[in-house]
Amino acid sequence: MQERLKRAIPEPRCELDHRSPWELLVATILSAQSTDATVNKVTPELFARWPTPLALAEADPAEVEAVVRPTGFFRNKTRLIQGAARTLVAEFGGKVPQTMDDLLRVPGVARKTANVVLGVAYRVAAGIVVDTHVQRVAERLGLSGEHDPAKVERDLCALFPRRVWIDISHRLLLHGRYVCTARQPAHEACCLFEVCPSAQGQPEGTWTARAAAEAARLAAGAEDAGDGANARASPRRAAGARRARNS
Ligand code: SF4
Repeated sequence: MQERLKRAIPEPRCELDHRSPWELLVATILSAQSTDATVNKVTPELFARWPTPLALAEADPAEVEAVVRPTGFFRNKTRLIQGAARTLVAEFGGKVPQTMDDLLRVPGVARKTANVVLGVAYRVAAGIVVDTHVQRVAERLGLSGEHDPAKVERDLCALFPRRVWIDISHRLLLHGRYVCTARQPAHEACCLFEVCPSAQGQPEGTWTARAAAEAARLAAGAEDAGDGANARASPRRAAGARRARNS
């Protein structure tokens, strides 16, 4: 499974535009219930007007709300990113902390956001990012039958060695975003078809050809078709977990 995902997603990356751990933290908070593409549209103005935690902490909330409004839940998100900014200023010298325990003290930061920031900004493998895409793909592949993201993360961390946690996070997420989507999983075009207990239909060509096609699709930046709903498949979990360990 890892080899296939590696071929399909040779350069796993975070699709949230950012220039610093601070910008990544804010972008990740804004990405909840939204898409990375939408967040990337609002953050240039947000960071141009309030470039530092101190500036954002002191900003007029109504003005911040107007900027982040397209991402949805804009009042709550404004409250969270300004709360995060104030906490960074008051407790961390205006810097984004580099440990899970410290990050979890920041408003708006749960394990998913903390894992994104630690992995992408600091290359610290504290865990595996579990968002709606990762949770869906993990279930369909039979890697976890849990619905609580913390338990899904626990299951995934037990299946994969720590040295791949950062990259497998992005690979599972991107695979879910572009191929194993919530509403219309592209089973036939999926490089994991032969190792997936939820696959349906007939695979197109070889898995290497499908992986190459997925790599091309990601490189082209296909539209996000999978945010939101978390479709349920019927995985055979034990078999999937075995495949993950053995591949
Ligand atoms: S075969 Fe289908 S369900 Fe399995 S990972 Fe691929 S797209 Fe998802």
